[in-house]
Amino acid sequence: MKPGEKLTVCDGTGTDYQCTLTGTDGGTALCHVDARAPSRGEPSVHVTLYMALPKGDKMDFIVQKAVELGACRVVPYTAARSVSRPDAKALAKKAVRWRKIAREAAQQSGRGRVPEVADCMPFAEAVRQAGACAPALLLYESERQNSLRAALTARPFAEAALMVGPEGGFAAEEVQAACEAGLVRVSLGPRILRCETAPLAALAAVLYESGNL
Ligand code: SAH
Repeated sequence: MKPGEKLTVCDGTGTDYQCTLTGTDGGTALCHVDARAPSRGEPSVHVTLYMALPKGDKMDFIVQKAVELGACRVVPYTAARSVSRPDAKALAKKAVRWRKIAREAAQQSGRGRVPEVADCMPFAEAVRQAGACAPALLLYESERQNSLRAALTARPFAEAALMVGPEGGFAAEEVQAACEAGLVRVSLGPRILRCETAPLAALAAVLYESGNL
Protein backbone atom coordinates (compact mmCIF):
# COMPACT_ATOMS: atom_id res chain seq x y z
CA MET A 1 0.00 0.00 0.00
CA LYS A 2 1.04 3.58 -0.59
CA PRO A 3 0.46 6.69 1.55
CA GLY A 4 -3.00 8.13 0.85
CA GLU A 5 -4.63 4.71 0.51
CA LYS A 6 -7.53 3.80 2.82
CA LEU A 7 -7.61 0.81 5.13
CA THR A 8 -9.68 -0.59 7.99
CA VAL A 9 -7.85 -1.36 11.21
CA CYS A 10 -9.46 -3.57 13.86
CA ASP A 11 -8.32 -3.34 17.48
CA GLY A 12 -9.48 -6.86 18.27
CA THR A 13 -11.78 -5.63 21.03
CA GLY A 14 -14.81 -4.69 18.95
CA THR A 15 -13.92 -1.39 17.25
CA ASP A 16 -13.01 -0.84 13.58
CA TYR A 17 -11.09 2.28 12.47
CA GLN A 18 -11.34 3.71 8.95
CA CYS A 19 -7.84 5.02 8.30
CA THR A 20 -5.67 6.68 5.70
CA LEU A 21 -2.10 5.45 5.43
CA THR A 22 0.16 8.45 6.00
CA GLY A 23 3.52 6.76 5.84
CA THR A 24 5.68 3.83 6.78
CA ASP A 25 8.65 3.77 9.07
CA GLY A 26 10.61 0.55 8.90
CA GLY A 27 8.20 -2.10 10.24
CA THR A 28 5.56 0.42 11.30
CA ALA A 29 2.62 1.75 9.31
CA LEU A 30 1.42 5.22 10.28
CA CYS A 31 -2.26 5.93 9.80
CA HIS A 32 -4.64 8.79 10.29
CA VAL A 33 -7.91 7.65 11.90
CA ASP A 34 -10.75 9.12 9.80
CA ALA A 35 -13.63 7.42 11.63
CA ARG A 36 -14.29 4.76 14.21
CA ALA A 37 -17.30 2.50 14.69
CA PRO A 38 -18.28 -0.76 16.42
CA SER A 39 -17.12 -3.71 14.31
CA ARG A 40 -19.76 -4.80 11.82
CA GLY A 41 -18.62 -8.38 12.22
CA GLU A 42 -19.71 -8.68 15.84
CA PRO A 43 -23.16 -10.14 16.51
CA SER A 44 -25.59 -8.32 18.81
CA VAL A 45 -25.95 -11.41 21.03
CA HIS A 46 -23.24 -12.88 23.22
CA VAL A 47 -23.39 -16.65 22.70
CA THR A 48 -21.22 -19.07 24.64
CA LEU A 49 -20.89 -22.62 23.39
CA TYR A 50 -20.18 -25.23 26.08
CA MET A 51 -18.90 -28.19 24.10
CA ALA A 52 -18.14 -31.64 25.51
CA LEU A 53 -14.70 -32.75 24.40
CA PRO A 54 -15.26 -34.81 21.23
CA LYS A 55 -13.04 -37.51 19.76
CA GLY A 56 -9.92 -36.77 17.75
CA ASP A 57 -9.61 -33.39 16.07
CA LYS A 58 -13.34 -32.64 15.82
CA MET A 59 -13.02 -29.72 18.22
CA ASP A 60 -10.77 -27.95 15.68
CA PHE A 61 -13.65 -27.94 13.21
CA ILE A 62 -16.21 -26.94 15.84
CA VAL A 63 -14.13 -23.97 17.06
CA GLN A 64 -13.54 -22.74 13.52
CA LYS A 65 -17.18 -22.96 12.45
CA ALA A 66 -18.52 -21.59 15.76
CA VAL A 67 -16.34 -18.49 15.36
CA GLU A 68 -17.44 -17.99 11.74
CA LEU A 69 -21.09 -18.23 12.77
CA GLY A 70 -20.69 -15.71 15.60
CA ALA A 71 -20.03 -17.49 18.91
CA CYS A 72 -18.33 -15.17 21.42
CA ARG A 73 -16.85 -17.84 23.68
CA VAL A 74 -16.18 -21.57 23.38
CA VAL A 75 -15.83 -23.63 26.55
CA PRO A 76 -14.62 -27.22 26.16
CA TYR A 77 -15.58 -29.48 29.07
CA THR A 78 -15.22 -33.11 30.00
CA ALA A 79 -18.49 -35.05 30.16
CA ALA A 80 -19.18 -38.41 31.80
CA ARG A 81 -19.33 -40.09 28.39
CA SER A 82 -16.45 -38.18 26.75
CA VAL A 83 -14.36 -40.85 25.04
CA SER A 84 -11.42 -38.53 24.64
CA ARG A 85 -9.62 -37.96 27.96
CA PRO A 86 -6.35 -36.17 27.21
CA ASP A 87 -3.96 -35.48 30.09
CA ALA A 88 -3.15 -31.93 31.22
CA LYS A 89 -0.17 -31.62 28.90
CA ALA A 90 -2.11 -32.74 25.82
CA LEU A 91 -4.98 -30.43 26.76
CA ALA A 92 -2.65 -27.45 27.09
CA LYS A 93 -1.33 -28.21 23.59
CA LYS A 94 -4.85 -28.49 22.20
CA ALA A 95 -5.84 -25.20 23.85
CA VAL A 96 -3.00 -23.42 22.06
CA ARG A 97 -4.19 -24.90 18.75
CA TRP A 98 -7.86 -24.01 19.36
CA ARG A 99 -6.92 -20.42 20.20
CA LYS A 100 -4.91 -20.14 17.00
CA ILE A 101 -7.84 -21.55 15.02
CA ALA A 102 -10.19 -19.06 16.72
CA ARG A 103 -7.89 -16.15 15.87
CA GLU A 104 -7.55 -17.19 12.23
CA ALA A 105 -11.29 -17.82 11.86
CA ALA A 106 -12.01 -14.39 13.41
CA GLN A 107 -9.68 -12.72 10.92
CA GLN A 108 -11.00 -14.67 7.96
CA SER A 109 -14.65 -14.02 8.78
CA GLY A 110 -14.23 -10.34 9.69
CA ARG A 111 -15.03 -10.56 13.38
CA GLY A 112 -14.20 -7.54 15.53
CA ARG A 113 -13.04 -9.65 18.46
CA VAL A 114 -11.21 -12.90 18.74
CA PRO A 115 -13.57 -15.21 20.64
CA GLU A 116 -12.12 -16.74 23.76
CA VAL A 117 -11.51 -20.48 23.94
CA ALA A 118 -11.54 -21.29 27.66
CA ASP A 119 -9.38 -23.91 29.33
CA CYS A 120 -11.11 -27.29 29.32
CA MET A 121 -13.14 -27.54 32.53
CA PRO A 122 -15.03 -30.24 34.43
CA PHE A 123 -18.75 -30.65 33.67
CA ALA A 124 -19.76 -29.24 37.08
CA GLU A 125 -17.93 -25.96 36.48
CA ALA A 126 -19.27 -25.66 32.91
CA VAL A 127 -22.82 -26.12 34.22
CA ARG A 128 -22.26 -23.54 36.96
CA GLN A 129 -21.06 -20.95 34.42
CA ALA A 130 -23.75 -21.77 31.87
CA GLY A 131 -26.48 -21.56 34.52
CA ALA A 132 -25.59 -17.89 35.13
CA CYS A 133 -26.73 -17.03 31.58
CA ALA A 134 -30.29 -16.57 30.31
CA PRO A 135 -31.33 -18.41 28.33
CA ALA A 136 -29.08 -21.38 29.18
CA LEU A 137 -30.03 -24.26 26.95
CA LEU A 138 -29.06 -27.90 27.23
CA LEU A 139 -29.26 -29.46 23.77
CA TYR A 140 -30.72 -32.81 24.71
CA GLU A 141 -31.35 -35.48 22.12
CA SER A 142 -34.03 -37.17 24.29
CA GLU A 143 -36.08 -34.01 24.86
CA ARG A 144 -39.53 -34.42 23.30
CA GLN A 145 -41.49 -31.38 24.52
CA ASN A 146 -39.46 -28.21 24.43
CA SER A 147 -37.97 -27.13 21.10
CA LEU A 148 -35.02 -24.81 20.64
CA ARG A 149 -37.34 -22.58 18.63
CA ALA A 150 -39.88 -22.31 21.46
CA ALA A 151 -37.09 -21.45 23.92
CA LEU A 152 -35.68 -18.76 21.64
CA THR A 153 -38.97 -17.12 20.75
CA ALA A 154 -40.27 -16.97 24.34
CA ARG A 155 -38.61 -13.58 25.00
CA PRO A 156 -35.90 -11.37 23.49
CA PHE A 157 -32.37 -12.16 24.63
CA ALA A 158 -28.97 -10.45 24.55
CA GLU A 159 -26.98 -13.52 25.56
CA ALA A 160 -27.33 -17.29 25.39
CA ALA A 161 -25.47 -20.37 26.62
CA LEU A 162 -25.64 -23.55 24.56
CA MET A 163 -24.48 -26.83 26.05
CA VAL A 164 -23.81 -29.78 23.78
CA GLY A 165 -22.90 -33.34 24.83
CA PRO A 166 -20.27 -35.75 23.51
CA GLU A 167 -20.69 -38.60 20.98
CA GLY A 168 -22.22 -40.81 23.68
CA GLY A 169 -24.77 -38.15 24.71
CA PHE A 170 -25.42 -36.87 28.24
CA ALA A 171 -25.63 -39.17 31.27
CA ALA A 172 -28.95 -38.93 33.17
CA GLU A 173 -27.17 -37.43 36.22
CA GLU A 174 -25.70 -34.72 34.01
CA VAL A 175 -29.10 -33.77 32.63
CA GLN A 176 -30.45 -33.56 36.17
CA ALA A 177 -27.49 -31.49 37.42
CA ALA A 178 -27.82 -29.12 34.46
CA CYS A 179 -31.54 -28.59 35.08
CA GLU A 180 -30.87 -27.95 38.79
CA ALA A 181 -28.32 -25.30 37.76
CA GLY A 182 -31.02 -23.56 35.72
CA LEU A 183 -30.44 -24.93 32.24
CA VAL A 184 -33.47 -25.69 30.11
CA ARG A 185 -33.59 -28.88 28.04
CA VAL A 186 -34.30 -28.26 24.37
CA SER A 187 -34.57 -30.39 21.26
CA LEU A 188 -33.13 -29.78 17.81
CA GLY A 189 -35.80 -31.98 16.30
CA PRO A 190 -36.37 -35.73 16.04
CA ARG A 191 -33.13 -36.47 14.20
CA ILE A 192 -29.99 -37.24 16.19
CA LEU A 193 -27.23 -34.95 15.02
CA ARG A 194 -23.55 -35.71 15.35
CA CYS A 195 -21.83 -33.88 18.16
CA GLU A 196 -20.14 -31.57 15.63
CA THR A 197 -23.39 -30.83 13.78
CA ALA A 198 -25.54 -30.04 16.83
CA PRO A 199 -23.60 -26.96 18.05
CA LEU A 200 -23.48 -25.44 14.57
CA ALA A 201 -27.20 -25.98 13.95
CA ALA A 202 -28.02 -24.50 17.37
CA LEU A 203 -25.70 -21.52 16.87
CA ALA A 204 -27.19 -20.80 13.46
CA ALA A 205 -30.68 -20.89 14.99
CA VAL A 206 -29.74 -18.53 17.85
CA LEU A 207 -28.10 -16.04 15.48
CA TYR A 208 -31.01 -16.25 13.06
CA GLU A 209 -33.60 -15.73 15.77
CA SER A 210 -31.71 -12.71 17.13
CA GLY A 211 -31.45 -11.11 13.68
CA ASN A 212 -27.76 -11.81 13.14
CA LEU A 213 -28.00 -14.04 10.07
N1 SAH B 1 -25.26 -40.97 21.25
C1 SAH B 1 -26.44 -40.24 21.41
C2 SAH B 1 -26.41 -38.96 20.59
C3 SAH B 1 -25.39 -37.98 20.96
S1 SAH B 1 -25.37 -36.69 19.83
C4 SAH B 1 -27.57 -41.07 20.92
O1 SAH B 1 -27.37 -41.84 20.00
O2 SAH B 1 -28.67 -40.89 21.42
C5 SAH B 1 -24.25 -35.55 20.59
C6 SAH B 1 -24.89 -34.34 21.22
O3 SAH B 1 -25.47 -33.54 20.22
C7 SAH B 1 -25.99 -34.60 22.21
O4 SAH B 1 -25.53 -34.87 23.51
C8 SAH B 1 -26.77 -33.30 22.17
O5 SAH B 1 -26.15 -32.30 22.96
C9 SAH B 1 -26.66 -32.91 20.70
N2 SAH B 1 -27.79 -33.37 19.90
C10 SAH B 1 -27.76 -34.22 18.85
N3 SAH B 1 -28.97 -34.38 18.32
C11 SAH B 1 -29.81 -33.59 19.02
C12 SAH B 1 -31.21 -33.30 18.94
N4 SAH B 1 -32.00 -33.86 18.03
N5 SAH B 1 -31.72 -32.42 19.84
C13 SAH B 1 -30.96 -31.85 20.78
N6 SAH B 1 -29.63 -32.10 20.92
C14 SAH B 1 -29.06 -32.94 20.04
